[in-house]
Amino acid sequence: MHRNRSTQRTSTVAIAILMVILACTFCSLTLAQTAASKALASDRIPAARMNQYSDLAVQWMQEYLRVDTTNPPGNEMRAAAFFKRILDAEGIESRIFEISPGRADLWARLPHASAAAKRPVILLNHMDVVTSDAAHWKVPPFSGAIVDGAIWGRGAQDMKDEGLAQLVVMVMLKREKITLDRDVIFLAVADEEASGNGTDWFIANQRDLLGNAEFLINEGGENVLENGKPKFISVDVGEKTTYWLKVTAHGRPGHGSRPNPDSAPNRLVRALDRVIAYRTPLKVLPVVDEFLREMAPYETPQRAAWFRDANKALADKDFVKALESDPSTNYLLRNTVSLTMLGGSEQTNVIPPEAWANLDVRILPGENPKEVLEALKQVINDPNVTVEPQSSDFRIANYSPTGTALYSAIREVSAHYFPGAPVLPHITSGYTENQRYRPLGIQSYGYSPYLATEEEGATEHGNDERIRVEEVRRGPRVLFDVVTRVAGE
Ligand SMILES: [Zn+2]
Repeated sequence: MHRNRSTQRTSTVAIAILMVILACTFCSLTLAQTAASKALASDRIPAARMNQYSDLAVQWMQEYLRVDTTNPPGNEMRAAAFFKRILDAEGIESRIFEISPGRADLWARLPHASAAAKRPVILLNHMDVVTSDAAHWKVPPFSGAIVDGAIWGRGAQDMKDEGLAQLVVMVMLKREKITLDRDVIFLAVADEEASGNGTDWFIANQRDLLGNAEFLINEGGENVLENGKPKFISVDVGEKTTYWLKVTAHGRPGHGSRPNPDSAPNRLVRALDRVIAYRTPLKVLPVVDEFLREMAPYETPQRAAWFRDANKALADKDFVKALESDPSTNYLLRNTVSLTMLGGSEQTNVIPPEAWANLDVRILPGENPKEVLEALKQVINDPNVTVEPQSSDFRIANYSPTGTALYSAIREVSAHYFPGAPVLPHITSGYTENQRYRPLGIQSYGYSPYLATEEEGATEHGNDERIRVEEVRRGPRVLFDVVTRVAGE
């Protein structure tokens, strides 16, 4: 995943939430009791057997982290073989598809029991991991070693941990003989960290095996643990999409000793100055509206009033000012433009005929890229400056609504395990493959059953990636309760 951890977003609510949790044990109890009105499926599993599942999860997590699926080159066939060995032993139907030499997708399914079946739920994970440099790690990145109460290894946060939880859930559903009213599909794909070939191949060639699914759970979401308490559970319901642009200014070349006011670099700088000053229109998507309303109770009175009705607050320039000074909320309400790369002459004494810049543009779900491009051209307003997309391969951003059985299941199960922590629908500024599944009619969420401290979360794609043993022991159980709530009879 290409996740942007939103540390700043959390800081504004941290203190308030903590106060609620500390000051009001009653609140937690009340919440837990309300949600407990429908018992958890895992409560029916005897403690000794639950303990065995936790032991298995730790053992398999260690083994899985030892499978080197660094991408490039990926070698996901190794991970697929690891999964298949376990699935075969458990008697769970599965198939491996070699999509190119050494690279594979793995699909497994637990069938529904009842005649009147609902549409399937998919547990999606990617098997590849990003590169790592052992020289910078305290514990070798493919050791799967347990040190200081954590299991260490590349992929421990992104996303072998979630893939492992999904695998254990399949095993638990099978062993516990849970009666399913919809198929539960386990899909492990190759190459998410690079081009997304694994998912693209599967959708293009084996779409029938997705069984017209209704729901999908993938990586994403962020459940922050702070001072030993879960601060919030966030579910990624949508993503923004990238629309990278190249700005090129043209002008008369010459010698640096003879300045030319209309040179390409000068024109570029003036154009970029206008781009930087440009404020893209603000809009409140329904899901962002819901996110802000959920946050309101943990905000200062003024911010709470704004957050309760963001559409109305847009008319208040103090709100807009506050919004724009907070990068963690600003991006939720608008398309964003970041200047990231610049180039001109190769030599200091040469005025070049061209100067260029790259803009990292991120577009909200549902927005039209052509309109974004036209608006930027108008802002630049210079016939000697061109603006063009860097790629023709644009995917319109999308999101899934929160009024679904799966979202309710996540909300209810979270209230059991993490009482008092709000469940927040979130639009991530990063990217996940959910974007590719939503157009198939699948409600897709980024959701993790694990908690992570800010420090642990930051090891994703960084050094010393690890997950606490305690999380690996509990996470599969949390996910099992979510899945049985949505797929169990
Ligand atoms: Zn990932």
